Amino acid sequence: MPNWNQIGSPVALPKVYIDGRLVDAGSAGVSVFDHGLLYGDGVFEGIRIYDGRPFALEEHLERLIGSAKSISLTLPLERDGLRDVVRKMCRVNDITNGYVRLVVTRGKGDLGVDPTKCERATLICIADNIALFPKSFYETGISAITASQRRARPDMLDPKIKSLNYLPNILAKIEANRAGVQEAIMLNERGEVAECTGDNIFAVLGGNVATPPASSGILMGITRGVIIDLLRRNEIPVVERPLTLHDIYRADECFVTGTAAEVCALVQVDGRKIGNGKPGSITKQAINYFWAYVAQQER
Ligand code: PMP
Repeated sequence: MPNWNQIGSPVALPKVYIDGRLVDAGSAGVSVFDHGLLYGDGVFEGIRIYDGRPFALEEHLERLIGSAKSISLTLPLERDGLRDVVRKMCRVNDITNGYVRLVVTRGKGDLGVDPTKCERATLICIADNIALFPKSFYETGISAITASQRRARPDMLDPKIKSLNYLPNILAKIEANRAGVQEAIMLNERGEVAECTGDNIFAVLGGNVATPPASSGILMGITRGVIIDLLRRNEIPVVERPLTLHDIYRADECFVTGTAAEVCALVQVDGRKIGNGKPGSITKQAINYFWAYVAQQER
């Protein structure tokens, strides 16, 4: 467990947590021999803080622990310790509405890929802010293109593992940037719709909400799960089924969900208007249910 006495009381300058120490955000760093840096060998989570409360913290910790287990990475802290780090970094940095990034790398090794050279994992916690899309897009909705870059096949690197390997997502985002749109839809190896670069996708077809299932090769988004539950609780049917681009193009509405993205309408894809090109009524309901749910979360 970290010694919080060493860390001291809340400070004015942003501090990041690295292996039990608090370091000025501006000068914080890891070893150049850290396998997280050299090979993308590690896992991470992003957690929203709303009104001083980490949103869906237990689900995020569960996913982090699962991702670490899957890549045979021993976390330096157990669940309770991780929870404490998240909460205390918010306190130290006076974050009541923001975003916390937990990163666990394989740690410092040598220049070979062999992870046995890494003595222990490096744990980093950054409490800051994030804005995935400029604010106005939450009113108007975002546009996307379909990326030529595919999502990794689950038998290559399972997208359920939230690993530090985001190069395919970054390449897809570069395609979106070049096309002048906010997001890129990534297809799986079968050409089905998987997800976007940092968020899951939903389509509304004839009053039914559909979203790609786990077998489409997606990250099992925590916001995705919350939205599925909230819609079902409000008697709006949701099916998890493979979606093609044809389903997206002819959908009445589309929206994306994610910790950073929150819930945002997707109103244009590959130059085609989705529905009437404006955020649809079910999308607006999903957004309202989401914010009402966030507001009622207990500390
Ligand atoms: N897909 C990808 C590729 C992501 O990076 C994210 C963000 N974590 C999501 C989906 C959404 O997941 P969550 O709702 O858990 O943030």
